[in-house]
Parts: sequence; C-alpha cells; structure tokens
Amino acid sequence: MKTKREIEIVGAGPASLVAAINLANAGCRVTVYEEKPDVGHRFHGDFQGLENWSSKEEVTDFLERLGINNKLYKKFICQPYNEISVYDANLTKTVLSSKRAFFYLVQRGDNPDSLDSVLLKIAREAGARIVFNKRVDKLNNLEKGGIIGVGPRAADVIAKGVLFKTTMEDTAAVILDDRLAPKGYAYLLVYNGRATMATCMFREFKQERECFERTVEAFRRVLPSLDMLDEREFGGYGNYFFDKPVYENGKYYIGEAAGLQDCLWGFGMRYAMLSGYFAADCFIDGRDYAALLKSELLPIQRVSLANRFIFERLGNKGYGSFLRWLTKGDVIDKIERQYNPSFLKTLVYPLARWRYKSRLVNKGCHGEGCACVWCRCRKEVC
Ligand SMILES: Cc1cc2nc3c(=O)[nH]c(=O)nc-3n(C[C@H](O)[C@H](O)[C@H](O)COP(=O)(O)OP(=O)(O)OC[C@H]3O[C@@H](n4cnc5c(N)ncnc54)[C@H](O)[C@@H]3O)c2cc1C
Repeated sequence: MKTKREIEIVGAGPASLVAAINLANAGCRVTVYEEKPDVGHRFHGDFQGLENWSSKEEVTDFLERLGINNKLYKKFICQPYNEISVYDANLTKTVLSSKRAFFYLVQRGDNPDSLDSVLLKIAREAGARIVFNKRVDKLNNLEKGGIIGVGPRAADVIAKGVLFKTTMEDTAAVILDDRLAPKGYAYLLVYNGRATMATCMFREFKQERECFERTVEAFRRVLPSLDMLDEREFGGYGNYFFDKPVYENGKYYIGEAAGLQDCLWGFGMRYAMLSGYFAADCFIDGRDYAALLKSELLPIQRVSLANRFIFERLGNKGYGSFLRWLTKGDVIDKIERQYNPSFLKTLVYPLARWRYKSRLVNKGCHGEGCACVWCRCRKEVC
C-alpha cells in the first residue's frame, strides 16, 4: 500500500487552513499546529472584506478555485456589498456603487459562521488533524520541512476599533481623513444588526486612541441615526515585506508570515488564502513555489506598494479629488486597473521600495544559519 505523504503546518489562519484543505483533499496526511485554543483568536468577531477589485476573478469563483465551493462558503457569512459611502476630510459624501460587488463581507474569529471556523470545519472534514494550544517555536528547525503560516511579525498597519450592535441597516462607509486614519482610512461595516467601526492607520501609531475617538465622533456626525449598543473595543496589526525567501529547505512561507499583503489598504486575506493554495499545489506536484509567487502574486503586491506611495502623497486635499476622479466611469474597473502593472507603477515601485525600506526589512528571518526565528537576516527574493 502506498504510504501517505505527511506534512506539518504551523498556524491555523486562512492561509494555513486553505493549504490544509487542499493537501488533505489530495490524500496527504496533514497536521496543523495552532498556538491558541481555537481558530481566529487574533480577531474578535470583527467584519472584514474579501476584496473583489484587484482581479477580475469574482470572490465566489476565487473561493471555488481554492476548494471552497458554493455549498461550503454559504456556511460562513459571505455577503456582497455593491455600494460604499465614502466621505472626504470635509465629510462630503460620495456614493460609490457598482454592478459588481466591491467586496464580500466575512466575519473573523471563532464564531460558528466566521470564515475561520468554517475553514477549520472544511479542513477537518477533508481529514486534516488540527492540534490547538501547540506553539511551534523553532520554525527554522522543522526537520522535515513544512508550511509556515504564523501571520504578521511586526506592525506596518494597525487597526483600532469597536464592535457593537445596532438597529442601522446594512452599510459600508469609509472616511478618508489623515486626522482620523493617518495615510489609511476609517471604516464602518454593518451587517444584520452587528457592526465593526475602526481606524486603519499606516502612520502615527502612538495616536491610536485619539484617532479612534475622532473616528467614532466623525461617523456619529455623518450618520446621526447610528446607535451603538454593547460596545466592545478591539485592535490588530498587519505587516508586508518583500525581502525574505518564501521557500527554503522544504519550508513554504505563506500569508502574512511571508509578508504577503495588500500594501495599499491591508486587504491580506486573498493573498493569504492564495499563497496557502499555491504552497499546497507545489508540495503535491513539486512545482517551484517561489517562482509561482513571483509570477502570480508578487507583481500585484509590488503595484500595491507603488499605489501606497502615490496614495500617501494625496493627503486630505487630494483624497477629495481622488474620489471625484473615481466616480467618473465604472468605479470597480478603475480600481482594478490601478492594480495592473503599468509603466507608471514600474517607475514608482523602486521609489516606494526606497521610501519604505526601513519598514520592509528586519521583519523576520527564514535564514537557515540563524539561531533566532525573527532576526535581521536579509535576503532578496524578488
Ligand atoms: C483589524 C484587522 C482588519 C483586517 N481587515 C481586513 C480586511 O478587511 N480584508 C482583508 O483581506 N484583510 C484584512 N486584514 C488582514 C487579514 O486579516 C490578514 O492578512 C490574514 O488574516 C492573514 O492570514 P494568515 O493566515 O497569513 O495569518 P493569521 O490570520 O494571522 O493566522 C496566523 C495563525 O498562526 C498562529 N500562530 C502564530 N505563531 C504561531 C506559532 N509559533 N505556533 C503555532 N501557531 C502560531 C496564530 O495564532 C494565528 O492563528 C485585517 C487585519 C486586521 C488585524
């Protein structure tokens, strides 16, 4: 009898669980180690968006490609939003609407209808073994190799927010104002009587509390009917980097542990899940994971960094003009085009790399010679 190929995965975030599902479905014996007692403990039941704008592939088709078909993804909240109200720094409202959804709202955390819990269920049904309360420390020493999806190691972007119940109807609203969310955005997502409001900041992290309070105040001003019940504050962070190997000595680094993240607005779930899927694929048929990321994922991430460089230059005055520009023509097509490699983005990318250099290095180390897991070892992969 043919023995099953074995693989160990560290971390049980979306990147790892998608890898586990695809490996187990391909007949591998999969063990996932998660340091927390359940999935989604980095999150708090907050709503996030699976963005639908960086590619023509609809989120639902994307999920299906990853092995999460219609019957399965309907088990977690996966709600399309076709309209977003965006306010500039003067609180002037622009309604962005599109026939194609801008994003699909999902819930993160350990609630039964969260993305994390349903991915866990699918992985288990496929035959993966999940070991909770098990922290794997010496990632460089995983003897037989494995997949590493341990999430971010540093903060390039932080979110400070509040979860609450409300009688308000389903809504997506965003405020672009550096006083509320330096070089980022403040957001409000309401679904089925529950809401997530937060400031997503790329700068001035020490002003987190003030920015958060201004965010609540601004949303109360633009939405006077907003009622907030059973408030619960939360926070989180994310990272992005380009300068570490994504495959080394049988170890595949996926999701934010590999620095994979949308550098413009911090929409990392698609990157995480896709990299988990790619790692599984490469493990199964021996393809070159680093090469696959280099052709399929890194070009778009590089453009997102160039976009961040441009976006940061707009400032409060520019955000209003940006919104007016967006509304001329099909919004989602316009955003998608901004994620396509272009001559301008190719020119801007080296500048952006230089600008964010100090933030892009020293996030972690996959170097075999290193004694520590996260150190200052620098290796270029792209
Ligand atoms: C507040 C907030 C809002 C966000 N909003 C959005 C959004 O709207 N849209 C979007 O696309 N993205 C969003 N993101 C980013 C997105 O959540 C992440 O990019 C995504 O979760 C990364 O998935 P991952 O599997 O790489 O890592 P994670 O989801 O971080 O999972 C890593 C797992 O590994 C475990 N772990 C860590 N170290 C070890 C160890 N040594 N041993 C064992 N287990 C370990 C952790 O406990 C964790 O469960 C948001 C992030 C935050 C913080």
